Amino acid sequence: MANPDPMLTDPGDLVPEIDLGRAYIFCDFDGTLVDIAPTPDSIDVAGDLADTLNRMVKILDGRFAVVSGRPVPDIERFLPGYTGDIWGAHGAASRRGGTLKNHPLTGSDAVARLQTAARHVGERHGTLVEMKPTGGVLHYRSKPALEQALHAEAVALLAENEGFELHASKMAWELRPTGASKGGAVTQELADRQPGLIPVVFGDDVTDEEAMTVAIAEGGFGVRIGGGKTQARFRLKDTAAMRDLLKRIIKETAS
Ligand SMILES: [Mg+2]
Repeated sequence: MANPDPMLTDPGDLVPEIDLGRAYIFCDFDGTLVDIAPTPDSIDVAGDLADTLNRMVKILDGRFAVVSGRPVPDIERFLPGYTGDIWGAHGAASRRGGTLKNHPLTGSDAVARLQTAARHVGERHGTLVEMKPTGGVLHYRSKPALEQALHAEAVALLAENEGFELHASKMAWELRPTGASKGGAVTQELADRQPGLIPVVFGDDVTDEEAMTVAIAEGGFGVRIGGGKTQARFRLKDTAAMRDLLKRIIKETAS
């Protein structure tokens, strides 16, 4: 039974809803598989997480992808041994079937110029600026009062740097190449597969909602991890519930 109230959290109801023969699962990383930490590098990754995801890849015959805002090598570093597909930098880069594909702007002068300017913003405000291969992120988690000030800085950066767009993230403003989105990753994965698949997007963030929009349009649905407004059909209360759900699917599939 579909759960009509997205605030109710019962993975027991959720399991039968995922048609493992037709589902394509797209799974965000931070805030979905692992808890968000004060800085991107200080996350705590469960030791068996890569193994859990590899089992899902096998159960779904390869129809499983980690879709993150992080660069692909970051995900590889935090999930050593994970063999499934990865979409990084919000769909701007990918590792599919073991082949890495970077966005054309990777390593470009345009990105270097944007990052230099972004670094100065961080220095002026005393806030973290996270560099990505194709952009940068102005974080205000350490200084929430600077949300609007950093938004204005991000808008100014956009005005001076063509080819980028601004996205709201969790306690952060992200600048990334125009057109790169998690929804784009979903579109591309589905385009390369047989028709009739059911895309299922697990995520905790506004960037995942973009992917859910695509999934819903393609006959699938979203699963929101944690609180916040969402168009997801289901909600899991935290990352532990998410990992439990995957383990439950693995267990039930094995028996
Ligand atoms: Mg997330």
